[in-house]
Amino acid sequence: MATTALIILLVLLVFLAAIILIRASAYLRSPEPIDLVDLPEVDTEMVALRLAEAVKCETISTWIDKPADPLELLKVQLQLQRNYPLTNTSLQREIVSDYGLLYAWKGANPETQPVMLCTHLDVVAVDPSTLDQWDHPPFSGEVADGYVYGRGTLDDKGQAVTILEAVEQLLRDGFQPQRTVYIAIGEDEEIGGTRGAAKIAAYLQERGELLEAILDEGGAVIQGILPGLNTPAAVVGVAEKGYLSLHLTVQSASGHSSSPTSHSAIGILAQAIQRLEDHPLPARLDFIRRSYRAAGAGVSPWIQLVMANTWLFGGILRKRLASNIHTNASIRTTTAVTMIQGGYKDNIMPRKAEALVNFRLMPGDTIASVCDFVRKVIGDPRVEIEVPEGAGWESPPQTDTDSQAFQGLSRVIRQVYPDAAVAPYLTLAVTDSHHYTGICSRIFRFTPFLLNETELERVHGVNERISLTNLERMVQFYHLLLRAWAS
Ligand SMILES: [Zn+2]
Repeated sequence: MATTALIILLVLLVFLAAIILIRASAYLRSPEPIDLVDLPEVDTEMVALRLAEAVKCETISTWIDKPADPLELLKVQLQLQRNYPLTNTSLQREIVSDYGLLYAWKGANPETQPVMLCTHLDVVAVDPSTLDQWDHPPFSGEVADGYVYGRGTLDDKGQAVTILEAVEQLLRDGFQPQRTVYIAIGEDEEIGGTRGAAKIAAYLQERGELLEAILDEGGAVIQGILPGLNTPAAVVGVAEKGYLSLHLTVQSASGHSSSPTSHSAIGILAQAIQRLEDHPLPARLDFIRRSYRAAGAGVSPWIQLVMANTWLFGGILRKRLASNIHTNASIRTTTAVTMIQGGYKDNIMPRKAEALVNFRLMPGDTIASVCDFVRKVIGDPRVEIEVPEGAGWESPPQTDTDSQAFQGLSRVIRQVYPDAAVAPYLTLAVTDSHHYTGICSRIFRFTPFLLNETELERVHGVNERISLTNLERMVQFYHLLLRAWAS
């Protein structure tokens, strides 16, 4: 009897192991080989100097009602006109809205739909308390040790300069696109893009344009960032999180603090905040699994075994991914309490306490579903919850990767980065591209630079800088991509 039970148990275990291994095999495939090409020659020193010049313009977007200084925006736009004379004369250059720029390179075949590359010229401010940590001042545009230093080098002036450099190079080579190529250069991406990208999108929509594909920022070739993946991975954003800032208010009677109520407005609000922080929104593994599956054999087999079998290891995996801030943000709608205000004197009970809680919405979660969740978790009618105007938008529709545009993009990425696996992923930050969903269903978010974790932290951070090697690869990538997409 005992022997029979043991045999049944062994058969079940073998069966279980077989299922686990069969599922994992789909995650451990190597990518198809590609044809390598000669990469175009780039005058990298010159590109670096042009970028350095652009960095010196202090195009700082601070807040929705404090956009970048128009004179600084004009200065950098004039530099681009001067540095790229062929682009300036051969492409149609339009100023849409105040400082949003749209270049149009007319295609030879009017039957085809246009493609568009997007970038922006505004940058985030520099925290004054960190100035002494910069190796070179943030707006010096210093070129040193193989890098261009300064705010905007990674986000997003490096993209603007290298895209135009590639266009100029193609014009010099006599390249004629079949599809029309648009280059959209926003002025206020860092504060929502409502002045630049939103108006460019509306302008194109009015003209009845439907675009074949768009490439914007929001992904990169990353190394040493995804757990278990040691080879470089080119993560291409095919979806983007939505955005929501909820305003919480608690009102209570004012009075003398010598005879206080047991819970003040501040105390009630603090409890609500603690409940929110203690109850994160549920984790979903679909996106991260898709990225790992695409990364294939470059990932440690153990990690792939777990990723392929979330029906068995889902609990452990969720815990492990939640322990890192980056991977946690990849699996759930995040909750961040970012602002709080209440009380004005130490001996007066506060009449009102307010907080702003910022959520980044996972595709599938909506503003309405997150509001419901928040109400349920707080469970206190004394806490009023509202969405301030313009403080929320849904996650934009996802891009299907079953298209020639994605195939072309993947091929070019691997021609420039032969060691990289191309993996669709979820862009965690907001980009200008969400404004373009009305005119294009194939939006990809990817910048062709290679970043490790330290370099990733420099984006919006201290000592932002870009290597000359990355600048060279970026020009080469945009050059090949325009040939692939527009031929
Ligand atoms: Zn940006």
